[in-house]
Amino acid sequence: MEKLHETATERRRLTRNSIYRYLYDAPGGRSKQEIAEDLAMSLPTVHQNLTELLRAELVRPDGMSASTGGRRALRLTVAENARFAVGVSVSGDHFRMLAANLRLEEIAYRKSSHPRTAGLEELGRYLVAELEAFLTDFGLNRDKLLGVGVALPAILNAEGTRILAAPTMHLQNADLQPLTDAIPYPTLFRNDATSGGYAEWFARKETDSMAYLSLEGGVGGAVLMNGAPYTGQNGRSGEFGHICVQPGGLRCQCGKQGCLEAYCSSARISSDLGITVEQFFAGLEEGNAAYVTLWQEYLQHLAQGLCIIRMTLDCNIVLGGYLAQYLPPYLPELRRLTAALDPFDEDAGYVHLCHYPKHAASLGVALNFINRFLEQL
Ligand SMILES: [Zn+2]
Repeated sequence: MEKLHETATERRRLTRNSIYRYLYDAPGGRSKQEIAEDLAMSLPTVHQNLTELLRAELVRPDGMSASTGGRRALRLTVAENARFAVGVSVSGDHFRMLAANLRLEEIAYRKSSHPRTAGLEELGRYLVAELEAFLTDFGLNRDKLLGVGVALPAILNAEGTRILAAPTMHLQNADLQPLTDAIPYPTLFRNDATSGGYAEWFARKETDSMAYLSLEGGVGGAVLMNGAPYTGQNGRSGEFGHICVQPGGLRCQCGKQGCLEAYCSSARISSDLGITVEQFFAGLEEGNAAYVTLWQEYLQHLAQGLCIIRMTLDCNIVLGGYLAQYLPPYLPELRRLTAALDPFDEDAGYVHLCHYPKHAASLGVALNFINRFLEQL
């Protein structure tokens, strides 16, 4: 693996970057001639840059193009496994750790439990031990590791250096420096729902704004504007779980009444009933009358939340979190209920299901390093 020319001028770097990005966005690869034509570059320029990229093992051959009478041409594509990033989603008692290659494909994943900790220093020790074991066990080459992103169920300051509040981790106003110090690789911290939204934004190749609503034990979300999270004054943008959908209604974990989270968290259809989410949906499918009534109410409150988000932001809304994997059969009904509340839209086609019902937060936080690499190459 040869290092790319560090001395290349910025103009040369941009040329090389545009060739790489072009190949990144071209499924199935392209020939030298196609690159030169589509990017309006001379063949020698393309040739020289491709030679550098091939030597650095960032681009690889991808078969021959079909003959069109003339000579068959070698197709090239990006070497997706040339680098990888690690994303770790941290909860009060678990790590969900994954490695993703340059195309944000999951190449390794492990969920592990960790003891409840008194503070971030102790958490850092557990995290690093798990991280090193993970890299070793999956045979991941540390020289190719771009960085380790950590997604936290926390409101962070704008710089991502301090936890302002993390009720489920029993932390408040905590500096993240002990975690940074513990991890011997480039590290960054993000909110978990924001990270999930970021992964979805990437998967959808969304060019516009997008809202992400995550349905899990907590209900959260993110607002992304052209890929960048809109964080708000206090880092609390996208806290959709605490939209009031039923004044004077069920008590929420935040202390208020009638929040979307009180009606649409996974607890509502599992632990509150003493069953698992799987058992709920199995019973629902079998026509259990109590479950059918509860589910109708669930969808109605969810539709209210969706309509409020739509009225406020006027953008696509992607439903994520692990409950999303059960939603496909109910999407038409959910859209119908949302449209019934929406004065402007007849079918609420702006409500979408996510690409990543599993591991979205870990993928999204890893994506920060991948995107940085793609931009700086
Ligand atoms: Zn609430």
